[in-house]
Amino acid sequence: MDFLSGLNPEQHAAVTLPKQSALILAGAGSGKTRVLTTRIAWLISTGQVSPHGILAVTFTNKAAKEMLLRLSTMLPINIRGLWMGTFHGLCNRMLRAHHREAMLPQTFQILDSADQLAALKRLMKVLNVDDEKYPPREIQNFISNSKEQGLRAHEVETFDPYTRRKVEIFAAYDEQCQREGIVDFSELLLRCYELLARNQLLREHYQARFHHILVDEFQDTNRLQYQWLKLLTGQHNALFAVGDDDQSIYAFRGANVGNMQELTRDFHVQNVIKLEQNYRSHANILDAANALIKNNRSRLGKNLWTSENKGEPLRVYEAPTDAEEARFIVDEVRQLNREGIHLAEMAVLYRSNAQSRVIEHALVSAGVAYRVYGGLRFFERQEIKHALAYLRLVQNFDDDNTLLRIINFPTRGIGARTIEQLQETARTQNVSLWQAAKQTGGKVTTFVTLIEMMASATKELPLPEAIDHILLHSRLLVHYQNETGIKQREAQERLENLNELINAATLFVHENEDDSLTSFLTHAALESGESQAEANVDALHLMTVHSSKGLEFHTVFIGGLEEGLFPHHNSRMADTGVDEERRLMYVAITRARRRLYLTFAQSRMLHGQVNYNLMSNFLRELPEELLHWITPRITARNSFSSSAYSSAHPPSINMEGLGRGKGIGAQNAPWHISQAVHHAKFGEGVIVNIEGGDSDLRVQVNFRTTGTKWLALEYAKLTPL
Ligand code: ATP
Ligand code: MG
Repeated sequence: MDFLSGLNPEQHAAVTLPKQSALILAGAGSGKTRVLTTRIAWLISTGQVSPHGILAVTFTNKAAKEMLLRLSTMLPINIRGLWMGTFHGLCNRMLRAHHREAMLPQTFQILDSADQLAALKRLMKVLNVDDEKYPPREIQNFISNSKEQGLRAHEVETFDPYTRRKVEIFAAYDEQCQREGIVDFSELLLRCYELLARNQLLREHYQARFHHILVDEFQDTNRLQYQWLKLLTGQHNALFAVGDDDQSIYAFRGANVGNMQELTRDFHVQNVIKLEQNYRSHANILDAANALIKNNRSRLGKNLWTSENKGEPLRVYEAPTDAEEARFIVDEVRQLNREGIHLAEMAVLYRSNAQSRVIEHALVSAGVAYRVYGGLRFFERQEIKHALAYLRLVQNFDDDNTLLRIINFPTRGIGARTIEQLQETARTQNVSLWQAAKQTGGKVTTFVTLIEMMASATKELPLPEAIDHILLHSRLLVHYQNETGIKQREAQERLENLNELINAATLFVHENEDDSLTSFLTHAALESGESQAEANVDALHLMTVHSSKGLEFHTVFIGGLEEGLFPHHNSRMADTGVDEERRLMYVAITRARRRLYLTFAQSRMLHGQVNYNLMSNFLRELPEELLHWITPRITARNSFSSSAYSSAHPPSINMEGLGRGKGIGAQNAPWHISQAVHHAKFGEGVIVNIEGGDSDLRVQVNFRTTGTKWLALEYAKLTPL
């Protein structure tokens, strides 16, 4: 068993634990996934269990594939009987096998969340529910949240008529799904849970079958998933969970780190094994990660070390603009590639999907192959396609496919029947759908008028403004702004992407002589299709930090390290606060094996406007001696040391009185845009705008904690930093 030889004593102990439930609590890169796969190989090759007796759960399909691959390099096995997959995948498999007991047709269909919403709307219409009072999305979230807590309609507590009505809709929705033989995502989990809960024979069958249940990334399991695991684990089988509380990054989807403590109690875990040696990264990278995560308040606590040498310092780059930041990253990637590092050994990580656009653009221009991983390339995203569809239709009314894409998106009450009739008319008269639409009355006419008005309104406008007009009047922005609950986070991303489209257009106009809409659309079509690298081509990885969990690369770039971006401004409001953002940053740093770049930009385009952000606090939490500044720390706003903040008596310039009278105007005030400042009440921030002069000078400051505020200088206590 060669595969055991490289393990350290703790890993070895974990891999060869006797059959008992166990929790391996260990930091990033300490070999958790390796231990879990090696344990499977060890159990099988020592004859303790056949592949048939193993159930292994991981977080993504990609991780499951990776696990199978690692396993098959350790020992040749027939994996047919092995159950390895995601929670959803495994529940699906079980429900198919026992569809009768689960009261489902064998061919039950799975609804994705858009389908689910459509089904719900259809139902609410039949039930005559006022969708202003009960927005379908809110009902959808209500249903999913209840299910993920393991609750059916009749189990939800109701204290008021409003909730009672929601519960009625929930019940009717479940009946409709049952009638039609369809299952939504959370239903997969709940139905499978109930199947096992209610059916003792079946439960005992699986408990006897799966001698060993193994879970990777346990810190991100939610309530229902945990309960499901509990049902599958009986008297005689064992649950082996590995996880890292410091990498819990799905609290917004109901992940519950508390499950770790519960596990030790519920499963009578004798001792929690800790792995503390990190094998992934050079010491400087690991020290940076450790220093950062120390700032989190509630941690289970562990100490990661490595026997690796210190390696290089972390490279910090401050770019004047986001475009420069992208250019720097691409240059470094090319240089490293010339030095022999495969593109696939490098990754660019970002907090929000919208950030990929500038980087993609720079990569396309430089001809570097890349792959956007775990997400869509910018121009392939749903919301971008919708927005482009409006632009396209405004250009060419007779583009049928485009018309179909948006005729009822955002919903404007044009149903499937009407669309069928339109298609029928178009067919019989041999005209385009647009022509057919013009002959139709009712809501279709409203759509036709909308598009015609957009066409004439945008004809004379510069491209970015034309796009702005269309986003507004198509109601795409409102559509995503109105999302609530779980979907809100996704919608927030979509809104950021739509804003990013305006940036793309602004840049396009700046860079091209032919700045017509048609040429922009051609550009978009090309950027969306051509440059994604083929499967077998060496290509750079681009992904959000969320999708990088569990992966590792020789070189990692973390871009956009700015306050408001990373940590994301949403975290100011969320209950999990900045701690979850810090865990994300911890995940990002610990993906790097040898080289880590941390970059940020002084100014960034957002909604066609330039924004000035402060350097991310996370960067400041890293020990200075681990960093190598590629750009000198020259700009005023970043040149102060952190002690300057905490000093009890900062050199204060009292502006009171100075604004009045003569001499202090926008021109000769000590203030300029992008300057870092400190305010007695609001803390530190950066000046983003200055207005007025002499007596009415006002400055707009983007504060780290409270966001953007206008200040009249007479009353403001501002200190330059
Ligand atoms: P994450 O928290 O990011 O999911 P992890 O704890 O699952 O990380 P692994 O991915 O299993 O860590 O391991 C990290 C790296 O260290 C891998 O390249 C793995 O092969 C290597 N590694 C783990 N244990 C050892 C060991 N004993 N000797 C040499 N290399 C090891
Ligand atoms: Mg792992």
